[in-house]
Amino acid sequence: MAKKYDVAIIGGGIGGLMTAYRLLERNPDLSVCILEKGPPLTKRYCPVIAKKADGCLSCTSCSIMEGMAGAGAFSDGKYVISTEYGGWLTEFLKPETVIRYIEEADKIMVSFGATTERFMPDNELKKLCIMHDLHMHQAQVKHLGTDSNFETMRKLIDSLGQKCEIVTGACVTDVDREKHEIIYTEKQAEKTASAERIVFAVGRAGNSFFSKWCMKNSVPLQNKQVDIGVRVELPAMVWEDFSKRIYEPKIWYRSKRYGDITRMFCFNERGNVVMENADGVMTVNGHAYRDEARKTENSNFALLSTTNFTQPFKAPVDYAREVASLANLISGGSVLVQRFGDLINGRRTDEKRLKASTTRPTLHAVPGDLSLCMPKRQLDNIIETLYALNEIAPGTSNHDTLLYGVECKYYSARPKCEDFVIDGCSEIYAIGDGAGVTRSLSQAAANGLYVADQISEKLQK
Ligand SMILES: Cc1cc2nc3c(=O)[nH]c(=O)nc-3n(C[C@H](O)[C@H](O)[C@H](O)COP(=O)(O)OP(=O)(O)OC[C@H]3O[C@@H](n4cnc5c(N)ncnc54)[C@H](O)[C@@H]3O)c2cc1C
Repeated sequence: MAKKYDVAIIGGGIGGLMTAYRLLERNPDLSVCILEKGPPLTKRYCPVIAKKADGCLSCTSCSIMEGMAGAGAFSDGKYVISTEYGGWLTEFLKPETVIRYIEEADKIMVSFGATTERFMPDNELKKLCIMHDLHMHQAQVKHLGTDSNFETMRKLIDSLGQKCEIVTGACVTDVDREKHEIIYTEKQAEKTASAERIVFAVGRAGNSFFSKWCMKNSVPLQNKQVDIGVRVELPAMVWEDFSKRIYEPKIWYRSKRYGDITRMFCFNERGNVVMENADGVMTVNGHAYRDEARKTENSNFALLSTTNFTQPFKAPVDYAREVASLANLISGGSVLVQRFGDLINGRRTDEKRLKASTTRPTLHAVPGDLSLCMPKRQLDNIIETLYALNEIAPGTSNHDTLLYGVECKYYSARPKCEDFVIDGCSEIYAIGDGAGVTRSLSQAAANGLYVADQISEKLQK
């Protein structure tokens, strides 16, 4: 017999976890389940992170992206307390409401052991940026750290496990929007469950499944932005003046040539560059441990050029995947690394040139030529921005600065919703990165708490 719940949450990332937490805090008798396609948190294992493999092995389930705690599990855990970046929740809620929920989620994380230390905004650095036509976002930031973040999430999940049902290895394949029946596969068997209320919190890993579900159910989708670029790696001391004061410099630049925005973000002080399996396409990312013993000599950050497509093109995600796939093709299924000096001199980085580099790579990537796979416009924007950044952090555009590619951030298509209830689907909600409304731990968490409050209010009525 199919199990019946009051609320079913699809996805065990921070958005789904916060939804469950708040629902059970306000309504302890509610029957809630979380269906997560990946493994339990402590069973998540990435051979590259464990240093058992040099490159991504394309595991059936990518432990970086899937499993309890979601995409945030192995993340550096930068918790951003601001509405300036990290998602688009302010398009739906007042900025002060978003901040209130971000702070509430932070309190929950602190109650499970997260640090209370915050890096504060710095106007002197912002002024330095403006003097060079660079623009720095201001935010309070917490650095949870890959290792500590993992522990905090483990405690949160353990606590939730005592109050609700968590089914891991449960990949939801369909939801009947009328009957509220959920079909999922677990241990290769097809199962069903039903719930009065359903929350899609599927993150970027569930983007393709969720978009298809929306199309099948005639839910209008909107998606036009894509960010394509590289992961930059250089000696940690180059950006020390910023990282010691604000931890994460988030700086954008409008290129003189095209007028496009290129953003520097996801800064990892003394961290590692990592490979990410985005639905079968290899891209790059970065993270950093809090534990001093696991820190490296390098810092890394994403440098991505934003493209907003206009009519008639409607497939920005496919576009980004094609670009990243080209880098996979050239590198034999991996990602590329190139010295900045080789890129501007129009030559490939080979093993010999990489060995000669004074910046030692933290990721085993294939030395190659990014200009063979990245579109000219985005590459020009990246080169121009690196020179601009060099004005405020000299050394950024050194010849031995390493560029890994391709890194891209594509955002899930956003379904038409009214207060996060999907158009035409009574009591079916969509939240977080998978709904195209957030792109950070803090906003996804805030979104989960907000929706849980909306559900609780309706229950009380
Ligand atoms: C390497 C890396 C580093 C990052 N670093 C940071 C950082 O420092 N700071 C920051 O703010 N953000 C960071 N992010 C982004 C952050 O992790 C996400 O914004 C956040 O996790 C989004 O939360 P979510 O709950 O919406 O989705 P997710 O955390 O992605 O969770 C969604 C969950 O749904 C599951 N799922 C998907 N489809 C199905 C299905 N069909 N059935 C069942 N389950 C399904 C997935 O397996 C996943 O576990 C990072 C991301 C990555 C990949």
